[in-house]
Amino acid sequence: MKQIVDVIVIGAGPVGLFCAYLLIKAGHSVYLLDKKEGPTEQSRAFNITPRSLEILQHHGLAYRILQQAISIRGALLYVNGSIIGDVFFEEVDCVFPQLTSLGQSSVERIIIEEIEKLQGKVAWQTELISYEQLGDQVVAQVKDHTNGEAKEISAKYIVGADGCHSKVRKQNPTWTYEGHSIKSQFALADLVLEGPDIARIRNRQVVFYHSRGGCILIPLPHHGTEDQITLRMVANVGSYETDDGPRVTHGVDNPREILTLDKVKELLDKRTEGLRVTIKKSLWLTYFNVNERIANGFRRDRAFLIGDAAHCHSPAGGQGMNIGFQDAENLAWKLSLALKGESSDPEKLLDSFTIEREPMVKSVMTTAGTLSRVLLADTYVMGVIRYVAISAAFNIPAIRRNMVNRLLQIDFKLGESPILAQPGTNQHTLLQHGQFLKDTRVLLNKDVAQKVDRKTIYQIMESLNDKHMVFWVITRQTWQHQPETDLTNAFIDGISSFKSCRGVVFQSITQFARYNDDKRSNNKVDHWIDTHTMSSTDSLSSRLGYTTYLAASKSVTPAAALVILRPDRYVAYSSLVSTHVELDQAFAFLNSYLLRNK
Ligand SMILES: Cc1cc2nc3c(=O)[nH]c(=O)nc-3n(C[C@H](O)[C@H](O)[C@H](O)COP(=O)(O)OP(=O)(O)OC[C@H]3O[C@@H](n4cnc5c(N)ncnc54)[C@H](O)[C@@H]3O)c2cc1C
Repeated sequence: MKQIVDVIVIGAGPVGLFCAYLLIKAGHSVYLLDKKEGPTEQSRAFNITPRSLEILQHHGLAYRILQQAISIRGALLYVNGSIIGDVFFEEVDCVFPQLTSLGQSSVERIIIEEIEKLQGKVAWQTELISYEQLGDQVVAQVKDHTNGEAKEISAKYIVGADGCHSKVRKQNPTWTYEGHSIKSQFALADLVLEGPDIARIRNRQVVFYHSRGGCILIPLPHHGTEDQITLRMVANVGSYETDDGPRVTHGVDNPREILTLDKVKELLDKRTEGLRVTIKKSLWLTYFNVNERIANGFRRDRAFLIGDAAHCHSPAGGQGMNIGFQDAENLAWKLSLALKGESSDPEKLLDSFTIEREPMVKSVMTTAGTLSRVLLADTYVMGVIRYVAISAAFNIPAIRRNMVNRLLQIDFKLGESPILAQPGTNQHTLLQHGQFLKDTRVLLNKDVAQKVDRKTIYQIMESLNDKHMVFWVITRQTWQHQPETDLTNAFIDGISSFKSCRGVVFQSITQFARYNDDKRSNNKVDHWIDTHTMSSTDSLSSRLGYTTYLAASKSVTPAAALVILRPDRYVAYSSLVSTHVELDQAFAFLNSYLLRNK
């Protein structure tokens, strides 16, 4: 039996599910398979970073997750029994200044339900046996273990989201998974605790550094009584040593021994000295192994790797699933444009996947690896270094902000990429190429002002799927000056010739962004206005950096700002525009990878 689809996604872990969901939402046919019987029953990954939650919100998933999750508001640090640091995530400038805690099993179920609402499904108990790339197709042989039948599936692309033992990766001999294993195991225990000190650790991550080893307590959603708390304890067993052999041992599936409750009690007592809690119930106990590995590139022609199939690392800081979500989002819109034939250079577009993701993944691996090494250090000298470094990290505001932003993935930005504008464009104070646009306050749709249509920029973008949003921001210094219309009309005409872009004209005056009485209505672009003062930090003008430009501008007719926002909300191009030549440069940039109608 042969089936033809747009994309085959191997693996219905959190990352494969999210990738399939995005592709189905964008209108593509997807064959999503997993050899397991159903979603995982274990809590596994549960820390969702603010950046991931913004991504999930943008794709309509965050609110369901938030309904079931709990919020972690900060972190507390003990060294040898004394508190030496206390961090509140509220300090962070983002839409969700928190870590969101929900077990992987619940997250997977939510995404599966959303896939089913879009008429998609997971083929459970179906295993990828092999695949070949033949011309402009990928042909996969899969086995349905419910009836023993073999099937052949053809697609334009195959995405390996099949975890660290990925068959998609292993089937191609040019792919390696370089790195090492950490010899010492980690103990993981999901526990219900009670005792006089539980209020101190509710809604906080608590890190204990001790000369006997480290231990982290992380709150999980709690379904018991109020005088109890459910949390995960993670502690190292043994010191940091690596094994450079090729055998991949990452994860919870191959522990060398069984973790007992007695061992957990011993670790908790010794490592959390001074914390008065007792174990009421244990929910899941296991040892797990950590590897630090990365594939040599995430693309081979029509095959792609995302999530743990592409990289695995220490779970310190809880980043693995999160960067997997970001892989999925980065890849899905590019595949979608290539599949719809809306890219002028699909090779360049698809190559940018590895080019953009690899540096980000490596940076996360470095952060997580450093945290692990600090946690596992067991020599006297390392202990002193650890104490000094951690005290500084928690107590010097600039270092603390930097550390928190890294852990919460707030400051992720894209480096060099063939589909980002080169530095040197007429950009000034505007949001730079490669930076991420945070969500805004609600905006008001100018064309339907009487009916009231208010949305944040993410809500506006939600229905756009793989479309780029191109902002044209115009202003005037006072009510007496009219905004530029000739260039604005040229923008509207130009942007309408890109099927994969949606233009937004955003009008304002210097201090207040208000409805202006320009009667021209044009359904080729959207017209939105800020309902708040432009100077508020989360107005669109401020987010784009236009307010700062205006504050410094002496001109009575300030330049317009043109900002091209990719579907993943990274800025591809931004420039101040006051001439037709500058406007044409922006369109030429877009046309370097997006198709333009003649
Ligand atoms: C103890 C622990 C705690 C963690 N905590 C966090 C955390 O708090 N936050 C965080 O971001 N990350 C965390 N991580 C990391 C996170 O669990 C992983 O990064 C994440 O699960 C990777 O998701 P994935 O979908 O890429 O792969 P997986 O979850 O491994 O899913 C791969 C899927 O592919 C299927 N598959 C494999 N081969 C085939 C085949 N041949 N045919 C069909 N199907 C196949 C498998 O059955 C599996 O369902 C943690 C990891 C561990 C071990």
